Amino acid sequence: MLKRIITPAIAAGVLLLTACATHQSPTGRSQMLMHSEAEMAQLGQVSFAQLKQQEKVSQDPALNAYVNCVAERISGVLPPQQWEVVVFDSPQVNAFALPGGYIGVYTGLLGVAENADQLAAVMGHEVAHVLAHHSNEKVSRSQMTGTGLQLLNIGLAAYGVESAATITQLAALGTNVFFTLPYGREQETEADIMGVELMARAGFDPEASIALWHNMAKASSGAPPEMLSTHPSHSTRIKELNAQQQAAKPLYQAARQQSRTVCRAPK
Ligand SMILES: [Zn+2]
Repeated sequence: MLKRIITPAIAAGVLLLTACATHQSPTGRSQMLMHSEAEMAQLGQVSFAQLKQQEKVSQDPALNAYVNCVAERISGVLPPQQWEVVVFDSPQVNAFALPGGYIGVYTGLLGVAENADQLAAVMGHEVAHVLAHHSNEKVSRSQMTGTGLQLLNIGLAAYGVESAATITQLAALGTNVFFTLPYGREQETEADIMGVELMARAGFDPEASIALWHNMAKASSGAPPEMLSTHPSHSTRIKELNAQQQAAKPLYQAARQQSRTVCRAPK
C-alpha cells in the first residue's frame, strides 16, 4: 500500500525536475519554473487589485500621462500584451511590474528618476523581471528548498475558484511572492541587461540607466529605498551597466530614426 502511494509521487517528482531543468531564461540561464503563466498571471491580477484598494491611486492627469507615455513606449517593443499602468501616490521610491500585465509606479520614484529616460530605465528593468518569469522562478526555488510558502499549494489549488476566501489567500500569497521574497543576484543582473536593451529599443538613452542608479544610491543614504534593499551593490551594478552601453547604443541610435512620442516629466 505504502509503495503504491510513494511510487507515483516519485515519478511525478522526477518528471517535474526534468521539465524544470530544460527551461531557459532570455539570457540563457537554466531556470526551474513550476507554475504556468496563467497561474502567475492570476496571482498578479489579484495582487494588483488589492494594491489599488490599499494604496492611494494618483489622479493627477499630468503625472499619469507622463508615466503612461513611458510605459507605452516600453510596451511598444514587447510581445503584444495589454499592460495596466497605475501611479500610486506614495513617497516610496519604488516601481514594480507583475505577471499578467501590471505596472505600478510610486510618486516617490518620480523625484529620483529625473527624466523620462531614467524612468524608462526603472520600467524596463521591472518589466524584464516579468518577461523572464523571475517571480515564477523565485517561488519555484523556494518551494524546492522547502523554505515555507505552504500557502502556495492552498492558493494555487484554488486557482480558478473565485470565492472571497480564495481571493484573500491568493492576495496574501501574491504579496509574499512579489514583494517579500527577494530576487536573486543573477535575476537582478538579467533584468538589468534586458532592461537596458528594452529602453534603448524604445528610444530612451541607455546611459540614463547609470544616472538613475546613481540617484537611487544617493536617495538611499538615509533609509534605503525599497528598490535598493533587494537589489545588487551599487558599484557592481554601475560597472555592469557601463559594460552594456556598447551593445545598447546602436539599438538606441536605430530607434531614434523612427518618430516616437516625446514623454515629458511634469514640472
Ligand atoms: Zn530588480
